Amino acid sequence: MADSYDLIIIGAGPGGYVAAIRAAQLGLKTAIVEREHLAGICSNWGCIPTKALLRSAEIYGHMNHAKDYGLVAEKFGVDLDGVVKRSRGIAAQMNNGVQFLMKKNKVDVIWGEAVLTSATEIKVAPTAKKIMQPQVPPPKNALGAGTYKAKNIIVATGARPRVLPGIEPDGDRIWTYFESMVPAAMPKSLVVMGSGAIGMEFASFYRSLGAEVTIIELLPQILPVEDAEIAAHVKKRFEKRGIKFMTEAKVARVEKTKDGIIAHVELKDGSKAQVAGDRLISAVGVQCNSENLGLEKVGVKIDRGAIVVDDHGRTNVPGVWAIGDVAGPPMLAHKAEHEAVIVVETIAGLKVHGLDKRKIPGCTYCEPQVASVGLTEAKAKETGREIKVGRFPFIGNGKAIALGEPEGLVKTIFDAKTGELLGAHMVGAEVTELIQGFVIAMNLETTEEELMHTIFPHPTLSEMMKESVLDAYGRALNM
Ligand SMILES: Cc1cc2nc3c(=O)[nH]c(=O)nc-3n(C[C@H](O)[C@H](O)[C@H](O)COP(=O)(O)OP(=O)(O)OC[C@H]3O[C@@H](n4cnc5c(N)ncnc54)[C@H](O)[C@@H]3O)c2cc1C
Repeated sequence: MADSYDLIIIGAGPGGYVAAIRAAQLGLKTAIVEREHLAGICSNWGCIPTKALLRSAEIYGHMNHAKDYGLVAEKFGVDLDGVVKRSRGIAAQMNNGVQFLMKKNKVDVIWGEAVLTSATEIKVAPTAKKIMQPQVPPPKNALGAGTYKAKNIIVATGARPRVLPGIEPDGDRIWTYFESMVPAAMPKSLVVMGSGAIGMEFASFYRSLGAEVTIIELLPQILPVEDAEIAAHVKKRFEKRGIKFMTEAKVARVEKTKDGIIAHVELKDGSKAQVAGDRLISAVGVQCNSENLGLEKVGVKIDRGAIVVDDHGRTNVPGVWAIGDVAGPPMLAHKAEHEAVIVVETIAGLKVHGLDKRKIPGCTYCEPQVASVGLTEAKAKETGREIKVGRFPFIGNGKAIALGEPEGLVKTIFDAKTGELLGAHMVGAEVTELIQGFVIAMNLETTEEELMHTIFPHPTLSEMMKESVLDAYGRALNM
């Protein structure tokens, strides 16, 4: 007879493994199926290893400016193998950490590729094709291929790189984020297709280590989901670092040459251009892993690749739930984790708020960092509300100057009538750590008045958050 569970989760990324832990905490008999790496894309090929690479780039950047801090740094350079090794080591550490957490929480790990055979049953087969060679072997006590039953099934199978027809990654000259993370040699020149978070982070990393970088973006604005003023600031800073941009430009095809690539680009005015490079990084978004899962057979509704769910992660088939990237945008680890908790608590019969997508922060860890939550100024205006906008530049903040980080901006947007914080947008040093203050404020439905009467420690970058709020009401102090 098939092993039977209260809950089976397919996919052990940040969505899946968090769901498993919360389910175990709530006393559900739980199993999680994974086909190649515990901790998913996030820890193995996404959030964490990129931040490790970017940290190396940041420190290298500081070493280049040692003189500005009154320091002497001589004979330093880049050991690319060492940079990659550090990043891969951290990824492996995260993977092992999830293995430990599954054991601690007594969650059964089933190793292999799962397919739903009904709304309450899955079949697991040995993994057919691995994306990249996993670094960490499966847990020793993992269960194997077979049939498993559950009262509830959560699909948390994530996403993979989106591929444009004719510009298929070849693992050599045309890279996805997988190859971009483990370069065997430093490309001298790089073309990055797409200026979303992934493209901007790799562009930033490679430029810091010395590559010539050109970013090609289809839309008029780089970082298309961010506030236009913040995106313009980032563009200027990237250009100052020597990064070139082509906007409203479409890569029509990529020609492979003896040593590299030539991107054939079509511009808005109908003209054509060619950009040559050693390598091209395709960073044009991700695509949900919703195929070959038996979802059609079970009758689960899918829209443009994403499993259709309500704000509690329910699909149209009772007992089948979906979370994370496979359930649609925003494709972010913290969204996956939050959905995991909502779904599991709903299964356990707890009363829980549904996901409010307006309050999901977004961060890009390039140099300079970008962080935001809520509506952009343009989107806030589109709602027809009267708004108040506050701005505070890094140059007015003592801590920013002391850190040697005088460039950046904190921008806040309020409903003029109610004082509701509609959006917060930041660019500059450490803003990815600061944004959470505004996320909490939004979650607690804080008004401008309460924010103005909150004491922020001095000297900190966070003081700029308060100053930005004050500025929205004509009361900024240090400007
Ligand atoms: C380069 C890069 C950088 C990123 N940086 C950030 C960042 O800084 N912050 C952020 O919030 N997000 C970031 N992301 C996005 C983040 O990684 C994803 O949003 C997150 O991993 C989604 O989690 P998930 O659990 O939905 O899926 P995943 O992490 O993709 O995990 C899904 C798991 O399911 C497994 N699986 C799939 N199909 C099956 C099957 N049939 N049977 C068994 N197992 C299966 C896969 O092997 C995988 O391990 C980044 C992504 C990339 C690529």
